[in-house]
Amino acid sequence: MSPATHRTGWSHLPLRAAAFVALTCVAILGVSGWREWAAREAVLREAEAEMANVVRSLTQHAEDSLDLLDSGVVGVVSRLEMDGTAPVTIAKLRTLLEARKKAIERIHSLAIIDDQGNWLTSPGTIGSTLSDDAFFRYHQLSPKREPHVGRPVKSLLDGEWVVTLSRRFNKPDGSFGGVVLATISSKYLSHFYEQFEIGRNSSVSLTHGDGLMIARNPSNEAFVGRSVSDKPLFRDASLQRPSGAYHFKSPLDGAERVSFFKRSSRFPLLLLATVDKDELLAPWRAAAISRMLYVVALVMLIAVIGAVLVRQLQRGQSMAAALVEKEAHFRLLAEGSSDMVTRIGLDERLRYVSPSSVRVVGWRPNQLIGTPALAGINPEDLPAVQAIVDAMKRGEREEARLTYRNSHRQNGEVWLESTMRVTRKDNGRVDGVVAISRDISEHKKLETRLETLAIEDSLTGLANRRRFDERLKEEWARAYRDRSSLALLMIDVDHFKAYNDEYGHPAGDACLRLVAQIIAAETQRAGDLAARYGGEEFAMLLPSTDAAGCAQVGERILKAIREAGLVHGGNRAAGCVTASVGGATCRPALERTAGVSSLVEAADRALYAAKDAGRNRLMMSGELMNLMPKASGQ
Ligand code: GH3
Ligand code: MG
Ligand code: MG
Repeated sequence: MSPATHRTGWSHLPLRAAAFVALTCVAILGVSGWREWAAREAVLREAEAEMANVVRSLTQHAEDSLDLLDSGVVGVVSRLEMDGTAPVTIAKLRTLLEARKKAIERIHSLAIIDDQGNWLTSPGTIGSTLSDDAFFRYHQLSPKREPHVGRPVKSLLDGEWVVTLSRRFNKPDGSFGGVVLATISSKYLSHFYEQFEIGRNSSVSLTHGDGLMIARNPSNEAFVGRSVSDKPLFRDASLQRPSGAYHFKSPLDGAERVSFFKRSSRFPLLLLATVDKDELLAPWRAAAISRMLYVVALVMLIAVIGAVLVRQLQRGQSMAAALVEKEAHFRLLAEGSSDMVTRIGLDERLRYVSPSSVRVVGWRPNQLIGTPALAGINPEDLPAVQAIVDAMKRGEREEARLTYRNSHRQNGEVWLESTMRVTRKDNGRVDGVVAISRDISEHKKLETRLETLAIEDSLTGLANRRRFDERLKEEWARAYRDRSSLALLMIDVDHFKAYNDEYGHPAGDACLRLVAQIIAAETQRAGDLAARYGGEEFAMLLPSTDAAGCAQVGERILKAIREAGLVHGGNRAAGCVTASVGGATCRPALERTAGVSSLVEAADRALYAAKDAGRNRLMMSGELMNLMPKASGQ
């Protein structure tokens, strides 16, 4: 997978996690809400079922009551039709009716009315006529023998609201003979309904088929006789069924209500039970609110935890992106560098090697990774490198710069310069070393060359004056320590100015090179040093050499120069190139006051003495002492 796709793959993760958390929260809320709604519906259904039962039994009660009334009325009708309406019969019947009325509580009144609408019973109402009453006119006009349930009316007897059940009786000739009337009081029914406690804002009412209220609990007095025919129950086509539930909003108080109604199949009656929805749902609502509070708390907890996790995911992601970028930068630098970048683990094996390894040590990174990091180092340099690496691993050194020789796959050995730095984990513990190594072989070669140049005379290849002075000091100190003797020869070509003049400067140079070679050839011991002292003057330093040894070397040099036989016309005495040599020896340990320069001065003096004595000869400083008195004596 490329880093780019890797990154885009990651960037969707927090979004998806957030979506998942949100979805979980919504799902929990949704399921809980749906469950609460279902519980609410169950409460309503249960209430409807309960109301349906109440309504059914109250309808039954109303029908039974009317049946009871009717059974009395039927009996009276048959007696009247058999026995006629003679006063005797009426009197008997009145007693019967009185007794019956007393025996049955729900009968408000029982009365016989003649064909003119006059009371035959109920003496208290004598004089009043019922000829205009609806039920009377119904029977008068209709030959039907069935019982007739009339609209609620105010009783003429005591002014109470009653519902009437009446039957027509015929005269022997079949014509209208009158009406037998029975009534039930609204108060009785309302009182009966009180037993059915269905809630504070609830009601039970019995209505006549045409919408007039017969009885109601509570507030019977306020409602009885009122028409509710404009209400939906009587107007809505959907509610014109035998029974059912319906929900509505009260136009009076705006409260929602649930009703169950039932129409009697036998009488024009409608029973309606209504409960207040709020009241009905109050227990459910309280429980639902507390349950939903728990759910909301849970959802908030999930949301908070989810938000924290998503945040962490985002942070982790941006950290990972930063890490990838950092690594990319590192690789860009490491792999773009001409230096070899390596990472060394605590086990001293290579963990990372940049591609420049091919150039620096001749091996490809994959050939080096996993191998010991110090394997290629020259055994002579290894202890020093190992010591530094050990110190870094122990955390005693943070960084180091070292040069060492390392094997190269093709080029044998190369000089490397490594800059090393300790790497640490987040907890601060050392976990390895990063080394940046470069090939400094060329540089080393140049350095060696410069060093040589600094101590070598360019014309003759002998040690130069600087080198001579250094060695002289060293040898002086050594001789001092060892209580040994130190000898010095100063060699000067004779009449060299004339040689130059005669053969030219380049020939002079060639001559000097030859003389230098001859002198160098005479350095037989390791400590001997032949140097060009300046111009055509050479010096030979001979450690641990006494005067005799020194003279011997001097003579050999003179002889060798002479025998070289280099023609020198200007040197008349010999005809060839010759030199004069002055030698001096000393024991530094015995000459406390004397210094390095005294030896040079002594040899120089001897040289000039040799020149003075005719050239092409050796003069030792010791001889000089012997000569001095003679010279002064001349
Ligand atoms: P003497 O026998 O007394 O030493 O006489 P001389 O001519 O050798 O001595 P002098 O000191 O008068 O001359 C030295 C000459 O050596 C002068 C100079 O031109 C020559 N000389 C010095 N250095 C070089 C050099 O590097 N190359 C050449 N060709 N000549 C040099
Ligand atoms: Mg000279
Ligand atoms: Mg000279």
